[in-house]
Amino acid sequence: MEAQQFREFGRAAVDLLADYVENIRDREVLPSVEPGYLLDILPQEAPEQPEEWQEIINDFKETVLPGMSSPVCTELEVLTMNWLGKLIGLPEEFLNCSSGPGGGVIQGSASEATLVGLLVAKEKTVRKLMKLNPDLDEDEIKPKLVAYTSDQCNSSVEKAGLLGSMKMRLLKADSNARLRGETLKQAFEEDRAQGLIPCYVIANLGTTGTCAFDALNEIGPVCKEADVWLHIDAAYAGAAFMCPEYRHLMKGVEYADSFDVNAHKWMPVSFDCSAMWVKNGYDLINTFDVQRIYLDDVQTDIKIPDYRHWQMPLGRRFRSLKLWMVMRIYGAEGLRNLVRTQISLAQHFANLVRADDRFLVEPEPSMGLVCFRLKDGDNINKKLLKNLTNKKKVYMVAGSFRERYIIRFVVCSRLTNKEDVEYSWNEIKTEADLLSQEKIHAKAQIPAIDIVARELCEKSK
Ligand SMILES: *Cc1c(COP(=O)(O)O)cnc(C)c1O
Repeated sequence: MEAQQFREFGRAAVDLLADYVENIRDREVLPSVEPGYLLDILPQEAPEQPEEWQEIINDFKETVLPGMSSPVCTELEVLTMNWLGKLIGLPEEFLNCSSGPGGGVIQGSASEATLVGLLVAKEKTVRKLMKLNPDLDEDEIKPKLVAYTSDQCNSSVEKAGLLGSMKMRLLKADSNARLRGETLKQAFEEDRAQGLIPCYVIANLGTTGTCAFDALNEIGPVCKEADVWLHIDAAYAGAAFMCPEYRHLMKGVEYADSFDVNAHKWMPVSFDCSAMWVKNGYDLINTFDVQRIYLDDVQTDIKIPDYRHWQMPLGRRFRSLKLWMVMRIYGAEGLRNLVRTQISLAQHFANLVRADDRFLVEPEPSMGLVCFRLKDGDNINKKLLKNLTNKKKVYMVAGSFRERYIIRFVVCSRLTNKEDVEYSWNEIKTEADLLSQEKIHAKAQIPAIDIVARELCEKSK
């Protein structure tokens, strides 16, 4: 959307809100809509092409406003999560529109989704074991439960273990930074031999460090065989699955119990909006349903979910509204284009780096991320990044790959263009030139220092 159009859209939105407030006393305090009203009138799929903002505002007035305040918040979330789930090619079982108990819910963050998954996995495992053996004590089972992920996981995954009081094993990823099925299987066996109970696995699709993809098609069957909850953290890279050419990277997704992608990360939805799907919504309800008299006004229908049982807080924001608007303003095609453009910009950057034989791109670029380094040691790369950061023209964060220090260049804004990428590369190159000159200079200095040292030696004799 162009800046001018955005101004007009913004003004129209403010007018609408001001009218609403001005006429609020003419409205009834409860809506007069039947459950499912919105799902019946809105399309079942995201539009392929971008839509006009005038049309969206109009739909907002005619379909959303009549369902204020609560029913529309739930129904628009069901609808948009179906839209997004279809768009990224999730198996139907995860969708509310399937015949089963699956569905999507918008959490605040990927961190929250990982923790929700952990708590549900814990509750489900405890119930299962107590059913098998009623003599078991819940408090004896819980400390024995173990969660597993790779040593490349995001910090929030490790934190979920802390918050949910479950031992979190960070298993060694292979030389390409991917967690493999065999490693997981061995860890299960080691722990079982010690009387511990495998409970929860987090597979990473698009790690933070190098955007590596765990071998989901190996991990999935291991979890299935062990009856362990499998959660997929695709916080960043999940957006790429909107493009069919990247879906091979989520092969094995059908084994997962829950899946999360941040719409607020690579997709152009403002923070916060983390899209989480589960195969069985009852698992969440069984974990989080706490009844109170003041909450006794809603019946539990999995098709019109009572989302308070799908998340940690009781109250919730109307996050689907922005997801709905973004998906309509861009259209599915516009969203896929964003992903493709950013990946090709990253490729362009990688080619620029490769053309300079002082540098190395490693590992292979993945999605919008290019990891690179000067071929010399880690220290010079640290210095390069430090100097660039001090200049405040480009901002990058370091990582490590095969024990080497790497610099990570990420294209992640819808505003980034080819010139920006070339500008960044020039900044990096210029700084590298300066470092090379310093090095030559330093070498030239050595004889002089040698002379001083020799003189000192002579004097001390
Ligand atoms: C960014 C990221 C997270 C954390 O996302 P939040 O929404 O900030 O919690 C988790 N996992 C991966 C792989 C990420 O890239």
